[in-house]
Amino acid sequence: TGATATDILELAEAHQVRFLRLQFTDILGVIKNVEIPSSQFRKALQGDIMFDGSSIEGFVRVEESDMLLAPDLTTFQIFPWGDPAARVGRVICDVNRPDGTPFEGDPRWVLKRQVARAAELGFVMNAGMEAEFFLFKPTADGRPATDTHDVGGYFDLAPMDLGEDARRGIVDALEQMGFEVEAAHHEVAHGQHEIDFRYADALRTADNIATFRFVVKQVARQFGLIASFMPKPVFGQNGSGMHTHQSLFSAGQNAFWDPQREWALSLTALHYIGGLLKHARALCAVTNPLVNSYKRLVPGFEAPVNVAWSMRNRSPMIRVPERRGMGTRLELRTPDPSANPYLALTAMLAAGLDGIETRADWREPVNTNIWEMSFRERRRLRVDDLPQDLSEACDELEKNDVMREALGEHITEQFLAAKRAEWREYNQQVSAWELERYLAKY
Ligand code: GLU
Ligand code: MG
Ligand code: MG
Repeated sequence: TGATATDILELAEAHQVRFLRLQFTDILGVIKNVEIPSSQFRKALQGDIMFDGSSIEGFVRVEESDMLLAPDLTTFQIFPWGDPAARVGRVICDVNRPDGTPFEGDPRWVLKRQVARAAELGFVMNAGMEAEFFLFKPTADGRPATDTHDVGGYFDLAPMDLGEDARRGIVDALEQMGFEVEAAHHEVAHGQHEIDFRYADALRTADNIATFRFVVKQVARQFGLIASFMPKPVFGQNGSGMHTHQSLFSAGQNAFWDPQREWALSLTALHYIGGLLKHARALCAVTNPLVNSYKRLVPGFEAPVNVAWSMRNRSPMIRVPERRGMGTRLELRTPDPSANPYLALTAMLAAGLDGIETRADWREPVNTNIWEMSFRERRRLRVDDLPQDLSEACDELEKNDVMREALGEHITEQFLAAKRAEWREYNQQVSAWELERYLAKY
C-alpha cells in the first residue's frame, strides 16, 4: 500500500499493474467498479475520473447523474491473481459531486459522517465482523445451486472438509492483500465456513468486509466453487451471520471497560447496549436487508430471535464476550453478511451513541435460554421479538428518526423504496411450500 499518488504509481509500475479498479459500494451493498487502463492512473489518483451515477440503481436522480470518484489512497491493493505481467489493482473511492462536495447517497460518506459524530463525543469505534459464508458446488452447466460439496461440521478437519483447500486459498489471497487473518474454520452447516480477520476502526472494517466478500467469491471460483453470503441458503440448516464485535475507545483507552463496576462494564458500555436494544427493531432493516434474512432469525440455529443481551448465553441479540481490558467489547449477533457494511456500521454506531446521549436503559441481562422462556417471563423481562420479516423491519426503520438521520434522507428513501419493492415482489410469489400444503387439500 502506498500513501501518495506517486508511491502508488511507482508500485503499480514495479508490479506491472495494467488495470486499476476504482471501487465503491452502492446503497444495497453491491461493489461497483470503474476500471481504467494504466494510461489513466495518474488522472484517476488525482480524483479526476467522472462516471455516470444514473446507471446505478437508487444512486442518483437523473439531473445530477455525473459523479466524481475520489480515491482513498490508503486503500490501494494489487489483486494476487491473474497474469503477473498484467496485474489488476484497486483503490476504494469516495463518491463526490462534480463540484467536489460529498454525495449523500454514498454509504462510505454516511459512515464517515457518523464516525465524525462519534469523534465529537470523544469516541473512536472499533469493530470486527465475522462474515460466515457457504461454498457450493455449481451445477453441471455452471449455475449456482445449494449442493454442498462436503459433509463437514463445526471445526471438522479434512477429509470431511473438502472446502479446506478453497478456504486456504482464500486465506492466502487475503494475507497477500494485507489482511491479518486470525482464524479460519468450518462452521456448523454443511459447506459453511468462517474466516475472521483483525478488527479495525469502523471505516477500515467496512472497507475490509466489502473487499473480503469480493475476494472470497473470486478465489472460490478459482477452485470451482461458488461462495454465497446469502443469509439462509438451506432450510433446516444454520444460516450465515455477520456477528459484529464493537467497542468505543476514548483517548486510546477502551471506554467500555470499568473494573470498578458490575461486570467490569462502564456506564458508556451499558448505555450503548441500551441504545442497541432501543433501536434493535429498526436496525434490522439495515443489518438484515433481504427477504431471506428473516428466515435466519428463527429459533434453533444459533441466530438471535429476541431483543435482549446476555453475559453468557448465545441466544440473545447481544452477547458480552469474557474478554476485559483493552479487549472489552459487545457482540451484536443480528447482522448477516448480505448487509451493506458501511450502512450497518453507521446504524449500529448511531444506535449506540443515541443510547449514550439519552442514557438509555440497558434492562437486565438475560442469562437463561430465551427460547425456553414462557411468554409471561419474556414480558416481565421486557424481551421483545425481532421483526418477523423485511416488511415489518421497513416499518420500524421508517418511523425511527435516529436511524433516518444517521442514514440521511436520500439513502433512507432509496433504501426503503428498493426494499418495499423487493418485499412486494416476493410476497406475490406462489412457493413450493404453498403448493405442497394447499394444492391437493383445497
Ligand atoms: N451461524 C450462526 C448465525 O447465524 C452463528 C454461529 C456462531 O455462533 O458462530 O448467526
Ligand atoms: Mg461463527
Ligand atoms: Mg461470533
